Amino acid sequence: MNRGRSAHDPDWTEDEPRLLVRSCLSCGHRWHFKRAFCPRCGSMDVATRTSSGTGTVAAATTIHRAPPGTSAADVPFGIVLIDLDEGVRVMGRCVSGAEPGDRVTARFQRFGQQLVPLFEVLERRTSPASPTSTRPNDLGSRT
Ligand SMILES: [Zn+2]
Repeated sequence: MNRGRSAHDPDWTEDEPRLLVRSCLSCGHRWHFKRAFCPRCGSMDVATRTSSGTGTVAAATTIHRAPPGTSAADVPFGIVLIDLDEGVRVMGRCVSGAEPGDRVTARFQRFGQQLVPLFEVLERRTSPASPTSTRPNDLGSRT
């Protein structure tokens, strides 16, 4: 699980209340996790922007076991995958009851040693999700 990251994991917020989106100035690809080159084309010509923090829930689950560095009082909590309006998929915590298709916005919360995104529901999904409407999974950009 631990891939050698510090308590101030730059892949989350860089310890400031914001979500960062990286974009490639050569091919236009966008991603979340910090790296010095484009994972699609290898270009070093990348830019970092602050996300609006709004997006749509792609998946949601509930965690019942406290992660290392947290206490039993911290569970259960929700984890969501969010498709940000900038076209990048990110993970964060959520208020209970968030469901796929809900519109959400990012707030931020200390969790253990980290400042992490906590998504709040802005608007409930109004129509049933269609399995054919989902976009290709962008989690491959983590590698
Ligand atoms: Zn690129």
